[in-house]
Amino acid sequence: MEDFNDKKVLITGGSRGIGRAVAIAFAARGAKIALNFRQDSAAATEVIEALEGEGHFAIKADISKAHAVEGLMKAVVGEFGQLDVLVNNAGIYIAHPIDDCDYATWQQAWSDTLGLNLTGVANMCYWAAQFMKEKDGGHIINVSSRGAFRGEPMHPAYGASKAGLNAMSQSLAQALGPHKIYVSVVAPGFVETDMTKTLLDGPAGEGIKGQSPLQRVASPEEVAHGIVFLANQQSAFMTGAILDINGASYLRS
Ligand code: NAP
Repeated sequence: MEDFNDKKVLITGGSRGIGRAVAIAFAARGAKIALNFRQDSAAATEVIEALEGEGHFAIKADISKAHAVEGLMKAVVGEFGQLDVLVNNAGIYIAHPIDDCDYATWQQAWSDTLGLNLTGVANMCYWAAQFMKEKDGGHIINVSSRGAFRGEPMHPAYGASKAGLNAMSQSLAQALGPHKIYVSVVAPGFVETDMTKTLLDGPAGEGIKGQSPLQRVASPEEVAHGIVFLANQQSAFMTGAILDINGASYLRS
């Protein structure tokens, strides 16, 4: 894969899990990283200190808040002078099974999940498009999920948010192509992170690993590999693509 020497990369939700691995992967190829986090500044600082190279920084913002997104994007472009790659990684996964959930909890789960996983990403894309248009384009990679295709009976808002994210990404790939802004998606199955730790460590863990013929779930580094691949200049014609990273646990054609 090509190097990203001095390319400016913003990653949301970079303080742990997949976002952390994405930051490490881009920095190892020469990129300068703006690492967004929501609340855990110590974890974000630890990631910045672990990155190869210089010129990286952590920046706090709640992506579910429209005004915070505007502030984040303006601050990052102010610091970097441009933005080459945006990775919309931050996401939440709230259980709210319809047969065991009161109405207030149900509504809150839909509002919180769509507010971050879909509308938050839409707002990030809005500002990225404004800045990338002025600087000869860029790459936007959105982190979706296998759940968009396979169903999420215990987390219906999550499945819907990721299906919406796929559709939005493909619409934006068409809208922004003329500006050389390429929009693509990764759709991981289960990944070993804090988000899934309780499930993977619990009684369902072995069954989840058995969904893949590889008898395991993905590492964050494997998902990062797919994201870096899509951010390559040579991947421009993959705009609009949704890249499955699920160890053949769910096949679609
Ligand atoms: P994770 O370990 O739970 O980490 C989530 C990250 O998002 C943290 O850095 C967290 O920051 C940040 N975050 C949460 N809410 C935020 C907000 N409102 N604004 C800004 N940042 C926020 O998650 P992960 O497993 O790495 O998942 C990353 C992405 O992959 C998500 O979009 C998820 O849906 C997707 N995905 C995950 C899996 C999986 O099995 N893990 C599978 C498919 C797709 P703080 O530390 O500050 O809270």
